[in-house]
Amino acid sequence: MFAVAALVAALTFAPGATPAACSGYVGLTFDDGPSSTTSRLLDALRQNGLRATMFNVGQNAAANPALVRAQVSAGMWVANHSYTHPHLTQLGPSQIDSEISRTQQAIANAGGGTPKLFRPPYGETNSTVRSVAARYGLTQIIWDVDSQDWNNASTDAIVAANARLTNGQLILMHDWPANTIAAIPRIAQGLAARGLCAGAISPQTGRAVAPG
Ligand SMILES: [Zn+2]
Repeated sequence: MFAVAALVAALTFAPGATPAACSGYVGLTFDDGPSSTTSRLLDALRQNGLRATMFNVGQNAAANPALVRAQVSAGMWVANHSYTHPHLTQLGPSQIDSEISRTQQAIANAGGGTPKLFRPPYGETNSTVRSVAARYGLTQIIWDVDSQDWNNASTDAIVAANARLTNGQLILMHDWPANTIAAIPRIAQGLAARGLCAGAISPQTGRAVAPG
């Protein structure tokens, strides 16, 4: 009996275990993939029980369709981050349309489904960008917290940025920084300690919500 009880206790309190209940959800987002680092990122997320939204660059999706499918297989949500990562506010309507529509097609062709979420590169947007996105059924998503991982933030700083997230909020991270991948286990531990779970992003509200 004692041995069984000890085993149950060990399983119940295993580090990194999914909390029994989620008091809230946050949206982890990773931009600019898929790339040569995507597989390592997906492994880290899966090993730590985290799901995230991947804002893919269309030309990367077209070049690496198997990695788009790997994102889906790992339980991630796939979204649109333009085709060539330009400053969209410096482009005309037809160029903006091309950036968005080609990415929808590249992701769908790769097996990533038809995205419902769109993040403009650099978070730069205007009324034309928003209206073109809406034409493709896309909700524009920016972020609440910028991890600064694109700006060479340390692993400690990336973990600390995630610790600032509150229920419903989204954080900007990227597919490629080594410090981001290194931060994943501590991000998972920090969220679990606060009763927060990694959620999906609602196309209706743009907020993090329970998956499915
Ligand atoms: Zn980007």
